[in-house]
Amino acid sequence: MTRINEHYLKLQGSYLFSTIAKKVAAYKIAHPDKEVISLGIGDVSQPLVPAVIEALHAASNEMGQADTFRGYGPEQGYAFLREAILQGDYLSRHIDLQADEIFVSDGAKSDVANFQELFAADCKIALQNPVYPVYLDTNVMAGRTGEFVQGAYQGIIYLPCTEENHFVPQLPKEHADIIYLCSPNNPTGTAMTREELKKWVDYAKEHNSVILYDSAYEAFISQENVPHSIYEIPGAKEVAVEFRSFSKTAGFTGLRCAYTVVPKSVQVETAAGSKQSLHALWLRRQTTKFNGVPYVVQRAAQAVYTEQGRAQTQAVIKGYMQNARVILSALQQAGLTAFGGENAPYIWLKTPKGVDSWTFFDKLLTEAQVVGTPGVGFGSCGEGFFRLTAFNTPQRTQQAAKRVAQLVF
Ligand code: PLP
Repeated sequence: MTRINEHYLKLQGSYLFSTIAKKVAAYKIAHPDKEVISLGIGDVSQPLVPAVIEALHAASNEMGQADTFRGYGPEQGYAFLREAILQGDYLSRHIDLQADEIFVSDGAKSDVANFQELFAADCKIALQNPVYPVYLDTNVMAGRTGEFVQGAYQGIIYLPCTEENHFVPQLPKEHADIIYLCSPNNPTGTAMTREELKKWVDYAKEHNSVILYDSAYEAFISQENVPHSIYEIPGAKEVAVEFRSFSKTAGFTGLRCAYTVVPKSVQVETAAGSKQSLHALWLRRQTTKFNGVPYVVQRAAQAVYTEQGRAQTQAVIKGYMQNARVILSALQQAGLTAFGGENAPYIWLKTPKGVDSWTFFDKLLTEAQVVGTPGVGFGSCGEGFFRLTAFNTPQRTQQAAKRVAQLVF
């Protein structure tokens, strides 16, 4: 009989969103007269901006003409988009990179999931707790962990992000080969400052580690001392790979486009001790396993960097961040402590004493008809916390906030 990859059996069931969906469905059946509002979604609610739609239409027309039709494109992305990203996100911030260090892809999820396959099976992984679950699960699938025992995978270095450390991961005492950092963070909404990130870059240089820096929410950063790219930190070009996405920046969750920066200066080692370029390995991986993002989608992404595209997408982000302020203010009125919402579209609230994440979920659903996400679903350190998102429409967010503000604990 054909045997399976046994590591998949170590995965913990992803019951979080299905449990939420079941609870919400049951509540709606029992209370058909009540309107339930979701502040749980990690998806955008606003449509694509006009500049993006125009680019999509124009590119679609090109695909219907013999002289402008395009078939397979370069696996790494078209030069027009790589150049637009380079100029718009890096050179404009005085970060010196080259266009061929930027790899266009169909999503940050696939890139952060796939990147680990470039590393040895016995590499030691460090990641935040709580955090976006893809980093951990893909390393479990690859066999880079032991079994799941008492709430943790053996062999993983968990970096607790708690109220005490302001949800900022602290350097581990032991050696880590690969460090996943998510900033601004999903789910805590917290972003690392330049000084905090510098400690990690220095650690990675000292330990010859690689940092996989997921910056999917970069566009939501508002504070001066929060870097927009890890390459703002001196030395990061030798140790860090950066993941970015158009999903939340420009509403591309359905269109699919993202990019990963792999500087040529990041070196890794063979078992025999010879140096290898991580860039060369990723290029080989992508050209073998990926056939590129649709031409029309890349033209749409390019439009995000035009003057109009930028102004329009920034206005949408501003709207989401206004939602975040509305939610924060409602939580304050309800006497709850909340974090985030300043550099990210996520609000991380502390559940009242003695109320766990799921009990809070039930209370919010039954008393305010508002849906959120129990923090414990993102890692054990998320117990006692709850995530609300700013991605719903202004009207629904205001309605939900009104109900939340009236909650009594
Ligand atoms: N990284 C983080 C931290 C996320 O929260 C998400 C989506 O929720 C992603 C990556 C996935 O982004 P994409 O839509 O580009 O695959």
